[in-house]
Amino acid sequence: MPSRSTSLPIRSRLAVGVGRLVAASSKAVHLGSGSVIGGRAALVVNPQLLRDLTAGRDVVIVSATNGKTTTTRLIAAALAGDRAVVSNSMGANMTAGIVAALGGAAANATAVLEVDERWVAGVLRATSAGTVVLLNLSRDQLDRTQEVRKLAEAWRTCLTATPPTTVIANADDPLVVWAAQVAPHVIWVATGQDWRADAAGCPQCAGRISFTGATWRCTDCELARPEPAMSVEDSAIATDAGRVPLSMRLPGRVNIVNAAFALATARSLAVPDDIAVAGLQSVEEVAGRYRVTSLAGRPVRLLLAKNPAGWHEAIELLADPPAPVVVSINARIADGHDPSWLWDVDFERLRSRFVVATGERRHDLAVRLRYADVEHVTADTIDEALRVAMGRPAYIAGRPVDIAANYTAFQEYFERVGGSQ
Ligand SMILES: [Zn+2]
Repeated sequence: MPSRSTSLPIRSRLAVGVGRLVAASSKAVHLGSGSVIGGRAALVVNPQLLRDLTAGRDVVIVSATNGKTTTTRLIAAALAGDRAVVSNSMGANMTAGIVAALGGAAANATAVLEVDERWVAGVLRATSAGTVVLLNLSRDQLDRTQEVRKLAEAWRTCLTATPPTTVIANADDPLVVWAAQVAPHVIWVATGQDWRADAAGCPQCAGRISFTGATWRCTDCELARPEPAMSVEDSAIATDAGRVPLSMRLPGRVNIVNAAFALATARSLAVPDDIAVAGLQSVEEVAGRYRVTSLAGRPVRLLLAKNPAGWHEAIELLADPPAPVVVSINARIADGHDPSWLWDVDFERLRSRFVVATGERRHDLAVRLRYADVEHVTADTIDEALRVAMGRPAYIAGRPVDIAANYTAFQEYFERVGGSQ
């Protein structure tokens, strides 16, 4: 495969080379894979590098509060049987991480890029992406991220300024609809999303959104659910061109939703359904999420849940009750320092099982669980948490224990089982 760098301007070739050197040095002194720091160095040499690295390629941008890493991975898998693909599949989703991923890619590879919600405008402007996939917007990291309505406004503004050929968007998220409806061509996906706590107010007029059965509309202006071209069913995706059955390895309805966005993206790039579906069905884990592995000598399954909307989906993915569950919560910079979001999670749904609370904010979690009337204990370390969970009568010998963790807690366990960013 020809290296991309041969057709790049000299300054960009130099930038890519510097980035690789810095990444390799960083890796050599055990500072992770070094890709993000390498990307930063490359951008110092050439701030226009993202534009150069994406010129002449098909580019797909994927953004959301929840599910963007998984959906990016599914889109890459859906396209891979049809063409060369390059992707920042490990979730390094700001410019430096994207540049690092693109640095060594073949010139003709389609770029499938996970983009942080706050970076969509900049990446869209630099890449002139032909396809933008917008999954959802909800509260995340209260003390760091802007109010969600501000994010929707920024998406709307950039889709007006740099309109992509196709936007693929969630018809059941009023914030996403309001942002995406300015684009000239939108494929609406009915996800059946029932997390509505962040969308009660109309983003257009500050009136009230009224939800009735599967649909919604603003009671004060014309903003309403658009007619979807695709709808998510239990084990299939209903489309204008017929029903597409799916047998996913990734668990839960949430991943059928993610697959629907991937199928819509594949179709918009003229990839045949059979090739796309084979790719979607081949994915078993995504950057450690859903991985069944061994931690401290014990069988575990890793799940990421980092905000109220994410938890809403994650609870459905847990092993059937009464299996015990380990929940691990940190509140570092990457998690947001404010753990008050725990009060917006419907932990009452864990009442039928035993929870071991761990992580640096295990005591905050324990208070929340006490108010939710969930039977629980705290454990100082993950090793102890697993030992306690596996000692419970409801634990079935040999089964993996589910560990639901927020961002930095998840990364810590993922690194311990041999994964890396
Ligand atoms: Zn309104």
